[in-house]
Amino acid sequence: MRQNDVLTEERDGFRFRGGCPAIDLPATLQARLKPAPRELLATPEDVRRWMVAAGLTDTAPPADEGDLALARRLREAIYDLAVHRHGGSGPPGGSLDSALDVLNQVAALPAATPALALAGSTAAVALNGPMTAFIATVAREAVHLFGGAATAHIRQCQSPTCTLFFVDTSRAGDRRWCSMKGCGTKAKVAEFRRRRREGG
Ligand SMILES: [Zn+2]
Repeated sequence: MRQNDVLTEERDGFRFRGGCPAIDLPATLQARLKPAPRELLATPEDVRRWMVAAGLTDTAPPADEGDLALARRLREAIYDLAVHRHGGSGPPGGSLDSALDVLNQVAALPAATPALALAGSTAAVALNGPMTAFIATVAREAVHLFGGAATAHIRQCQSPTCTLFFVDTSRAGDRRWCSMKGCGTKAKVAEFRRRRREGG
């Protein structure tokens, strides 16, 4: 598995700003509070591409329509759990109980199995299994995220137009934006303009 911290926030058209795949999955429905959200998981192939971009595997197995539906259900469960538990700028799509049920059901599916891969002096962990198992792996990560110590660090971006959640790993625990380059810069520009207006 590759390390997320050395990768960029945008990969293969998907956003990875949250710090781990589980909290980044909801970002695959862009502009979710707008009248016409943009679905980035439109086809089964998109699910396969996301798994590779998320760093879970270099060669994801093929995905089918069932995997697509499962990935979307998990995504909405994670988003709803984050909104219910950690606040949010918009209403969740469903109840906390139904989100919890979906998450735990997907997490109960057989997950991808790790294998040690050695090549010369380098070592890596390779995950194996059908696409359903990769989706279950993301669900299990979400279970540990919401149920473990990291749950205290889940935050939503403070941009009023952004719904992305992230895990705040800053030392001071005061991270405000999903992306310093994205929402952080936009907010600074808006603040600068507001001050200039008020100043004269
Ligand atoms: Zn943001």
